[in-house]
Amino acid sequence: MNYKFSEIFRYIKPSEIRSLLKYTSDPELISFGGGMPNPESFPVEEMKEILADIMDNYGKKALQYGTTEGLDVLRDELAKYVLKTEGINAKREEIILTTGSQQALYAIAKIFVNPNDPVITEGPTYVGAISAFNANTANMMAIDIDENGMNVDELEAKIKELSQNGLKPKFIYVIPTFQNPAGTTMSLDRRKRLLEISERYEIPIVEDNPYGQLRYDGEPVQSIKSMDKNGNVIYLGTFSKVMAPGLRLGYVIAPREVIDKINLLKQGLDLASDSLSEYIAYEYLKRGAIYRQIPKTVDLYRKKRDLMIKSLEEYFPEAATWTKPHGGMFLWVSLDERIDTTKMLDRALKAKVAYVSGSAFYPHGEKHNSMRLNFTYSDDDKIVEGIKRLAYVINEEMEV
Ligand code: PMP
Repeated sequence: MNYKFSEIFRYIKPSEIRSLLKYTSDPELISFGGGMPNPESFPVEEMKEILADIMDNYGKKALQYGTTEGLDVLRDELAKYVLKTEGINAKREEIILTTGSQQALYAIAKIFVNPNDPVITEGPTYVGAISAFNANTANMMAIDIDENGMNVDELEAKIKELSQNGLKPKFIYVIPTFQNPAGTTMSLDRRKRLLEISERYEIPIVEDNPYGQLRYDGEPVQSIKSMDKNGNVIYLGTFSKVMAPGLRLGYVIAPREVIDKINLLKQGLDLASDSLSEYIAYEYLKRGAIYRQIPKTVDLYRKKRDLMIKSLEEYFPEAATWTKPHGGMFLWVSLDERIDTTKMLDRALKAKVAYVSGSAFYPHGEKHNSMRLNFTYSDDDKIVEGIKRLAYVINEEMEV
């Protein structure tokens, strides 16, 4: 059979992270590559009770198809949760459950983007967003970030330049808090400027916030959505990092007209998210289990972040620099300009240590001398050993 696939595959490329996964079965490999939460952060005991209670109390409903928008009582609990944790005011009708926030990223691109429409992202940005936007034929343009998040002057200049050519971005995608992959947080000033720009040029902001509650130090910065008076912000949340990613449950908070479009699309994607997961999330919020779990996860990850930074200071070469995230799961290392981390990955895998090279996080693969390191997944002794191995690999690469 000579299959004739659609033109979409001109846009989609396999992600380096997926190709790394084939090495994860090697027990000797220390991987800082994946974005996985540490399984110790999963609320296993609490889940046993919750699951038993769900089966006793509403087993038949939990095993049935649900509505496309998601369980009403869960959306009400979510409204309370985002008000308490992020200062976001949302009505039940402004919330839709999704199958992970990954589905939300796909859906948002699908409902806004026509072939080659411009979309603004941060540079670097989340690989899964690049995949979702590519699969929906977006023409992504990355705006540089620094330790205070997206460079809003550069953003405005880009918008003006596009408009001179009769173009306008369909949305601006940002991960303002504990960014994936850089670990940086956008300052309050820039968040306000971003919102002003969004209002002035009438371009929606997509605020993706999976890590906001994983803060290890410093003061919280207001979510952009909490400052949004005119419905400019489409907010994405997920249970993946505060409960468990295996349940595949995320949510979108946005004005009704956006939620309605996502709802229509979702009917063709999966009809509805997983009912059992929705009941679990509902109980997890209602019982307050989430507020007991998050501090435990934060304590576990804070120690791991500190250990990785200490090991970097001890073993990495002088020329290397790295971000010092106040939360989240990743830090971003920049190496000597002469190093190409994509090429170096082979050497690293031979030394049994993995990372994701920086170019994977740019829509067009631009930067070459950086890498993302995940500090939440590995055991403590592996963090130290892995950084030692990586330092060795970098030094070797410099000598070639
Ligand atoms: N957005 C960002 C920035 C992420 O890092 C992730 C997961 N790594 C997601 C979205 C998707 O998460 P999920 O589908 O598990 O909710």
